[in-house]
Amino acid sequence: AENAQNRQDEVTGKKHLPKGVVLGKDGKPCRSCTSFGAWAQMAKKETTTPATISTTTPPAQATSSLQPPADCPPDVEQLGRSSWTLLHSIAATYPEKPSPQQQTDTRQFLQLFGKMYPCWVCADDFREYMAKGNEPKVSNRAEFARWMCEAHNAVNVKLGKEKFDCNRWDERWRTGWKD
Ligand code: FAD
Repeated sequence: AENAQNRQDEVTGKKHLPKGVVLGKDGKPCRSCTSFGAWAQMAKKETTTPATISTTTPPAQATSSLQPPADCPPDVEQLGRSSWTLLHSIAATYPEKPSPQQQTDTRQFLQLFGKMYPCWVCADDFREYMAKGNEPKVSNRAEFARWMCEAHNAVNVKLGKEKFDCNRWDERWRTGWKD
């Protein structure tokens, strides 16, 4: 069965990629959609067994703790952490009484962010989240912060992570923790 699959893959140009490696829309592995661990696993297989990328895949946990070196392109997790830092920080400095123009700008920013986010699978899901009953709430800072926290929690749930307590959002992203 594996030989047949390999033959089929030769025809289609597809390879057996390690679990977690996400292809980009150009059909090539997408670095910013893939964890560094999965990427390293793929690179290792390509250098050791170039013709037959094997089906033995490490469990997600075995690779997800690996971090890319600081001066390398970001993986999906590093990009995500940096992006959430930016998004929550934007919410933290959002006005308590934004003008109509500021509200429009913020909605547009989020729509464009959802189009340009480098991990395309993440971007697709984020746009879908906003389109399906979760349009950004931008009438004041508290509301925007709550919306951002819930949007982040929706991703946490999708990835099997714990939800963050949005009542503590202010301390995490704006004021610092109370002692
Ligand atoms: P992160 O989730 O990056 O969180 C960083 C810090 O924010 C945490 O340490 C915590 O202190 C705080 N935090 C956590 N949750 C909340 C919250 N709800 N509100 C406020 N603060 C919080 N990765 C994928 O693999 N698949 C995806 O589809 C995907 N979609 C994404 C969509 C968007 C818009 C973004 C910005 C990122 C996405 N990511 C996705 C990346 C993913 O969300 C994480 O950033 C990544 O897995 C690293 O997670 P982390 O555990 O280090 O903490």
